[in-house]
Order: sequence, then structure tokens, then C-alpha cells
Amino acid sequence: MTATYITTTIPYVNARPHIGHALELVQADVLARYRRGRGEAVRFQSGTDDNSLKNVLAAQAAGTGVRAFVDRNADAFAALGGALSLSFDDFIRTSRDPRHRPGVERFWRACSADLYRRRYEGLYCTGCEQFYRPAELLHGRCPEHETVPQQVSEENWFFRLSRYAAPLRAAITSGRLRIEPAGRRNEVLAFIEAGLEDFSVSRPAGRSGGWGIPVPGDPGQVIYVWFDALCNYVTALGPGEESYRRWWAGPGERIHVLGKGVLRFHAVYWPAMLLSSGQPLPTALFVHDYLTAGGRKISKSGTPGTVPGPADLAAAYGADAVRWWLLREVPRVGDADFTTGRLAARADDELANGLGNLVNRVVTMIHRYRGGRVPAARQSAAPAAVAGSERLATACREAQAAAGAALEDFDFRRATAAVWRIVDEANAFVNQARPWDLARAEDGRNQDERGRRDAPAQLDAILGQLLGACSALGGELEPFLPDLAARVRAQCTPAGDGRLPLPRPVFRRLSGPARSGPARSGPARSAPPAGLGVEEPEQDQHDDGADDRPDDPDRVEAVDVQVVVLDQVLQEAADE
Ligand SMILES: [Zn+2]
Repeated sequence: MTATYITTTIPYVNARPHIGHALELVQADVLARYRRGRGEAVRFQSGTDDNSLKNVLAAQAAGTGVRAFVDRNADAFAALGGALSLSFDDFIRTSRDPRHRPGVERFWRACSADLYRRRYEGLYCTGCEQFYRPAELLHGRCPEHETVPQQVSEENWFFRLSRYAAPLRAAITSGRLRIEPAGRRNEVLAFIEAGLEDFSVSRPAGRSGGWGIPVPGDPGQVIYVWFDALCNYVTALGPGEESYRRWWAGPGERIHVLGKGVLRFHAVYWPAMLLSSGQPLPTALFVHDYLTAGGRKISKSGTPGTVPGPADLAAAYGADAVRWWLLREVPRVGDADFTTGRLAARADDELANGLGNLVNRVVTMIHRYRGGRVPAARQSAAPAAVAGSERLATACREAQAAAGAALEDFDFRRATAAVWRIVDEANAFVNQARPWDLARAEDGRNQDERGRRDAPAQLDAILGQLLGACSALGGELEPFLPDLAARVRAQCTPAGDGRLPLPRPVFRRLSGPARSGPARSGPARSAPPAGLGVEEPEQDQHDDGADDRPDDPDRVEAVDVQVVVLDQVLQEAADE
């Protein structure tokens, strides 16, 4: 069985998580869930970088002990697993995990041929935890933090990166180490072409406040936090050999998901460390761009009070809505701007109006016209003659392969679009096939349709195909929206009595027109906390869908039917 190891980076815990962290976690989760669904053995790992000097400085600024400060923020990152329905198999905390420190020490010793001590003077950005060459600064400031770096002079351990230009270039150009998107790959190759300098891999222990892992055999120095942090990808596989052999040294894939700001560490330093210590390279790096929030850059220390954190967003809007915005709106290349208004508009337009209504209409019609029993297909009744049937069948048939190909390219928007084609085609099919007309012909209510003897078979076939499309959505959406997909599957699965469950909203609107009454079921969701009120959407304006097809007596095709139809069906069930 193919073994695939998927990781996120491990963020600093100098602040609580922001929406940008959620992007990377959700992207990696989709890859992990998709590959598990395809039958691969998957190990999905996340974690936190506890040993950063930034954490020490942030704790001092907050007037808190470093341990308590780090623990509190690390807990907030770990809690995103539940809040965002992430499926990670392992979560490593570099300061607490008993596997990490001995693993880093082993890694260090394995690189010893490339490690040496020397005095160094340079410009150091504490925010990045890295030295910059003067030419790399923008107007004398760190390009990432826009702060003036410190002039630092100290004796450190260095890693002989300069030896690895040729093997790194070969690994990248051959595709053995794949870097996506291509622009990032070219950026790395250009950096290598410009010449690789040896880099500092330790700090004087005094400057780190005693926080971090001491250099083996040289306790006056601690291991540079980047060296320490990058090792997490293999230290979590220890200390035994079995897990390491399976996930890192075997024939499978090793995929790192990371942000553009840490590209150099993952595409140059980390592979060089692996080559030096005689270990295999990752097989692929996927590099995402950044989010802004309300048009503003999200600072590394977060923007408390202005941008809700991902756990608060998930509590207010549900994990599905947060995941959907990140997957549907964030492009593969280029930054994206987050607002809660856009999140709610996207969820209402697609998850409530598009998918929610489709499932509700289909299940409602099967209850109304067939007593809740899934119609058996009849040979003579293939609905091919009905406009849209073939297009819907094609969308269902092609979704899996198209989504899979898009995910091979790490293109989450294209992947979700492939699945969403089923929703669009199914809704179009309902409107073209007009099953309610067939139902009236079937029971003689509709004079025009009287005499259509094939109406029952046609209706069976149409309802069967629509339910099949909803079931397909319940499967294909699992990697992207695991919670909503499970509710769709439950709605499409007959109970022990052979009948579908009564229709319940699989996704309720987050904003827009007031509902006609309180919904009686569906996912529990608390009211948005202060500051999380839904803004008017600034884009993606959509028609909230007054019913413009008044000729349907059963009102099953109305856009905002979820509560109305639910009440009707519940009433009928009560009357029986
Ligand atoms: Zn910086």
C-alpha cells in the first residue's frame, strides 16, 4: 500500500492562531483525507514550534513565564484540530514531545561532517530568526517584518550549505524534489544560482534565555530554532526504526505544505540537512501564498480584536463554512483577502442555496412522491431524453478523477469546482425535468399530462438519478467538508425500514432574509460572539431567490425551501 506522509509547518506560538494558519491546516487536511479515501496509507502531522526565541520575547512582553505562555498558545493551535475538523494523526510540540530532543541531537550528530564553529557578524531579524545579507533588506529593513535587523556579533556553529548547491539543483530540476507552484521552484533555483553561503545553526545559550536544545557536546550554545524545528518532520517518527522506515525512508511520498515566507528553509536548508545526514528528501513541497484580513496584512503576532481567530470563526459559522471559504476562494497563486462577509456569502450561496436546497428538494420529493422509498430503476425509463440528465451523469462520472487531478496539482479551487459541477448540473436537471409535473400526471391532477403512461417510470428514474447525484456528493465532498458530507450521506441513506430519513437542512443559511420559523434540526451553532456579526458581503452578491416559479404547487423547487418544506413534511408525518 502506498504510504503518504503529509505535514504542515509548525508555527511559532508567540501568539494565538490566525486565519492564515487555518489555510495551511485545511489544505493539508484535504490532501490527507483525499488520499485516505483513495486507499492510501496516510500519516498527517502538524504541531507547534515551541523553542523559538520569539516565544521567549513575546512571553517577556506579556509578563508571563515562558512555559505557561508557550503552553497556552500551543494548546490553542492543537484545539484547531477539533474546531476545523482536521484529521491529523500526530501533533508534535517541540518543547514537550519526548521524541523531539533526542531526535534533534541524533540529527545534529549525523550532520557533524558539515558543522564547524566560527565567529560571525551579521544583521539578524528576530522575527524571522535568521541573518540577512544587506542586499536582501528593503531600505535597510527585514522584507518580512519591515523592522530594522540587529547587528549581531557572536561565535556560532555553522552548517556547510555551500557544498550542496549542485545536488540541490539536481534534485529540484529532475523533479525528485517537486516544488509547486512553478514560480516558487524558479525562485528557489535562482536563490541557489546566486550562491549558497554556510548558515549559522546555533546561538549562544545566554541570548536564548536558556530556552531551546543545547548543542550536543557544547552546552554554551543552543541549536538554531530553524534547525530544531525542521527536524520535527523526522523526530516524530522516532525513536524506533519502524515508523521512520515506513514514512520517511520508504518508497512513498513525503509532502510538506508551507507558506511562502518559509520557502528557503524548506527548499534549501532542510534538503541540505537531509543530504548531509544521509536521509531521503521530501518528494514535494506545496507553497501557499498569504491571506490578508479586511485588506490588511495579518501580522505574525496576530491582530487581536480586529480579525477573529479560526476557532472563533468555526464556533460562529461552523467548520464547513470556514473550510469552504479557504478552499473555494483562495487561489493557488496570489494572496486572498478574508472577511466574515465573504465567508458567509460564499457559504449561503453554495452550501445553503446550492447544495442544501438540492438535497432537501430531492429527499422531500422522494418522501412526497414515493413515501420515502428510493425508487427502483426501471429499464424502460432511462431519463436520457430529459434535458440535463446526460450532463448530470457526466458531472458525476468525471468529478472524482477531475478533483484528484486538481489535488495532484495542489489546486484546491479547481478540485472543489469539479465536485461542484454535480450540484449545478443536478439543480439545473431538477428545473428542466420538473418532477412535480410528472407527479401530477401520475395521479391525474394535471390535465395536460393525463395519459402519459410512462410518467411513473420517468419520475422513478429522475428521482433515482438525483438521489444518486446527492450520494455522490456525500462521497466526493468528504475531503473538503467532512461534517457536511456526513450529513448529506446520512440524508441519502435509507433507514432499516427502507425509507430515507425525513428531510432536515444539511446546511442552514448564515445570513440573509429571516427564516419563516425556527429550524427544528440541523447542526447546532451558537450565535456569533460580539465582533463576529455578519457583514454585508462586499462581493459575490447573489440573488437570495424569491420564488419566481409560482406554478409548482408542491413548492419543492423554491430556492429558500428548507424550513417551509421541512415543516410540511413533518406535518404530514404527524398526520399519518
Ligand atoms: Zn523578519
